[in-house]
Amino acid sequence: PQIDMSDLGIASRAVLKPITQIAAAAGIPEDAVESYGRFKAKVDPALVPTRNVGLGKVVLVSGMSPTPAGEGKSTMVVGLGDALAATGRKTIIALREPSVGPSFGMKGGATGGGYSQVLPMDEINLHFNGDFHAITSANNLLMALIDNHLHQGNALGIDPQRITFKRVIDMNDRALRHVVIGLGSPSDGVTRETGFEITVASEVMAVFCLATGLEDLRARLGRMTIGYTYDKKPVTVDDIGATGSMTLLLKDAIKPNLVQTIGGTPAFIHGGPFANIAHGCNSAIATNTARALADLVVTEAGFGTDLGAEKFMDIKARYADCPPSAVVVVATIRALKMNGGVQLADLHNEDVAAVQAGLANLAKHASNILKFGIQPVIGINRFATDTDAELAAVADWAKSQGIECAVADVWGQGGEGAGELAAAVLRAIEVPSNFAPLYELDMPVEEKILTVAREMYGAAGVEYSAGAKRTLEQIHDNGWDNLPVCIAKTQYSFSDDPKALGAAQGFQLQVRELIPKTGAGFIVAITGVITTMPGLPKVPAAMHMDVDAQGNAVGLS
Ligand code: ADP
Repeated sequence: PQIDMSDLGIASRAVLKPITQIAAAAGIPEDAVESYGRFKAKVDPALVPTRNVGLGKVVLVSGMSPTPAGEGKSTMVVGLGDALAATGRKTIIALREPSVGPSFGMKGGATGGGYSQVLPMDEINLHFNGDFHAITSANNLLMALIDNHLHQGNALGIDPQRITFKRVIDMNDRALRHVVIGLGSPSDGVTRETGFEITVASEVMAVFCLATGLEDLRARLGRMTIGYTYDKKPVTVDDIGATGSMTLLLKDAIKPNLVQTIGGTPAFIHGGPFANIAHGCNSAIATNTARALADLVVTEAGFGTDLGAEKFMDIKARYADCPPSAVVVVATIRALKMNGGVQLADLHNEDVAAVQAGLANLAKHASNILKFGIQPVIGINRFATDTDAELAAVADWAKSQGIECAVADVWGQGGEGAGELAAAVLRAIEVPSNFAPLYELDMPVEEKILTVAREMYGAAGVEYSAGAKRTLEQIHDNGWDNLPVCIAKTQYSFSDDPKALGAAQGFQLQVRELIPKTGAGFIVAITGVITTMPGLPKVPAAMHMDVDAQGNAVGLS
């Protein structure tokens, strides 16, 4: 019979070690390991002491502007992690948990690919250890308490028209974007228009991923703004009285999940916020638990340097004190060609000139990393269709710019395909970094947005809608000026126009809406069209999924 070379096929042939063995090798004390079956565990960070050699270094994997298929950042994290572990450095990987919504919609799973995957692939992609369920429950408990508060007399004077928090579900379901609740008789609650967001877009998810411990989780949940009173004063979760019960629902979920790669490297997979309206990386607790245990922690930030990496530096590294020592910018020949003007359907044809034209995009991403005082390393994720001439065009350019660059075949060869990239990363982490965030927190919100727009995106300026201008005043009146900003923008372009590929510049960034997320601790600035509840495509990935007679997953990719 033909060998199944799909991600699921490769994953299902891998031989896994018991998770207790992986934990022991990682130096995790036995009493900190809570096994969920044979191959998954939760780890209690309170029982993990920091090694006496100090915290490990963070290697952040980011990327150039992607094609719709994704450029393989997660796959590169896994392959690079395996390659670094093979050099004898103690290495732990930290990644986000996949969301069921996109997995059954368009994107497929998010556990890497080929011979660079985290295992058990199907369980991680499906319900894993129940964290998203816990986050969904905590969010929806809050919503039930808010609507009950309205029903029971509304002592706080909450304006039902100004409730900004929504219910969530981990599903792509466009029909839930706008709903009316409380229909029926007076005993059925207060009627109001609201909607659903996907769980990964919720502020509870962002809070979960920025909290540095259980007490910080509690404090951040309590500070979340759920809406406003009739006289426009913010109402928080603490005001509703929901903080304790929400924290209770999250007490086990907040412990990082331990799994292994095909190569046997330990990996924490924990939390998964969006990389546009939230900061787009795994939990701070997972990153910092990994740093307590390992020399090197390889982790990922969603989308390109303009989105995920910027937020990693300006939001996560600031709150969780985990600045990267090196940043790998993942590039692919197909994304270079797309940014060089080639249509999606023609990306498999050799086109060296288009690769060269697309280098303007990669160059901007590399220079973005330099702006944080960190040396970028370009990692080319090799695809079978790449030609030697195309790969050489990138290597020659990088050499001329003095930027480290290595080709990696992590999909086809796992860690063995990333030896050169691992060597480049080991050189980069030895270069003393002058890490500094892009802006100071005490700058006005408009200045922070302008700084990111100019420095990261190449914008000439920023324009605000009338609504956004009103929210700016409200931010000022409520004393929220000192929060960092989290700009939601298309991942396809440096600008807010998804069709402006390459290295767009000189444009005016249009801010449509500002949303203060006072628990997560950032001000979201929405540009362009950003949905917090995705829909399904005409033929969803779910159409190809099934279970065989032995209970094995079929069609997960
Ligand atoms: P990202 O993290 O950038 O969104 P992923 O690592 O999830 O991207 O990869 C997206 C998809 O592309 C996965 O299904 C993966 O198997 C596939 N993929 C990644 N790299 C390669 C490669 N070099 N060759 C073939 N398929 C790849």
